[in-house]
Amino acid sequence: MDKNLQEEFTQIIKFQPPLYKQRHQFVKDLVEKYKPKKVADLGCADCSLLWMLKFCSCIEVLAGLDICASVMKEKMHMLSPLPVDYLQPSERSLTVTLHHGSVAHKDPCMLGFDLVTCIELIEHLEESELKKFPEVVFGFMAPSIVVISTPNSEFNPLFSRVMVYRHPDHKFEWSQAQFQSWALETARCYNYSVEFTGVGHPPTGMEKVGFCTQIGVFVRKYPQTGESVQSEKPAEAVYKTVFKAVYPSLKDEKYLQNAVISEVIFTAQIIKHRFMSKRKEYGDDPERKSKFQSSMDCFSNYLEKLVLEKNMEPFVSGNEVHIPLTTIFSFPKVNRLCGTFEKLCKLIAGKVTLSSDGSAVMFNIEHENEEN
Ligand code: SAH
Repeated sequence: MDKNLQEEFTQIIKFQPPLYKQRHQFVKDLVEKYKPKKVADLGCADCSLLWMLKFCSCIEVLAGLDICASVMKEKMHMLSPLPVDYLQPSERSLTVTLHHGSVAHKDPCMLGFDLVTCIELIEHLEESELKKFPEVVFGFMAPSIVVISTPNSEFNPLFSRVMVYRHPDHKFEWSQAQFQSWALETARCYNYSVEFTGVGHPPTGMEKVGFCTQIGVFVRKYPQTGESVQSEKPAEAVYKTVFKAVYPSLKDEKYLQNAVISEVIFTAQIIKHRFMSKRKEYGDDPERKSKFQSSMDCFSNYLEKLVLEKNMEPFVSGNEVHIPLTTIFSFPKVNRLCGTFEKLCKLIAGKVTLSSDGSAVMFNIEHENEEN
């Protein structure tokens, strides 16, 4: 390396955004590309990557593993659901679990993941742990994708303060050739392909040193392992679960029912309000009523057609206004939440006031009439 250039850069190397953020963004981009449902972060430390990943809507299971329980516990509360998650449960389900244990040991709770991330982990492993690591991750866990990042030692001379390693707990730091030969051998052994990339670009003129953080993305070459293969694997649990959060989800009937009831009442109120104000305007005169029908501008064209063609308009009987359930079911949000008309009827049964034949939501308008 050119000593003059090197000296110039050792003073000014500063990544923007910071390198850890670039690494986490790299994982997030990968998640957005491959859309894994189950993601495990090994050596998750303070759970900051897990926290970022919980917002990726494709993920339904997130797990973290670290050998240091105290560092995981520091900010693990950030992984708990917030009040807004209960007020507006998401359509996807999400479970976040943290385990205390070592990547040198196999535990069945780590089976079935689509993506496993090991960000700045391997350089913290003792020689004996590093030896066991490929068998645990690639042999036992065997996810479709594994991401491993580690410092590139060739970049270190550009940092003025790096004496031996970038962090006192690092057991080694590899050059690009060292990392690539380990990664290629691991990939070959466990039937994965691997591609190399990185984050933290070297300064212009110093491209040869490579990325500050080197990354290997491993993709499994064989199809999903079936139940039969997994059942051969050891069943004893060795990790200790230190945190578990199950997010409220519309996949859970209890939350779905609440959401459907609120949406049905809200939709019925809108229809009723519109109906009552038009009725006040046009009265019950049949000629004027047809004018009302053609001017129901609160509905989309589609819905207006339904109301007219299928006789789904609201009507008044005594002191009650009836809003047909079929009309309510035509509203996209109700429709999407319930899926079928039968499901809608089942979810609101006994929870919303319905007409005696169960075909309409009823509101008493006695007092509204009095006010008029
Ligand atoms: N992945 C984090 C930082 C990792 S630092 C990030 O992206 O910011 C390395 C972490 O690996 C530390 O939290 C350390 O406690 C953990 N670690 C070290 N040896 C381990 C082992 N054998 N098994 C699991 N975690 C380990």
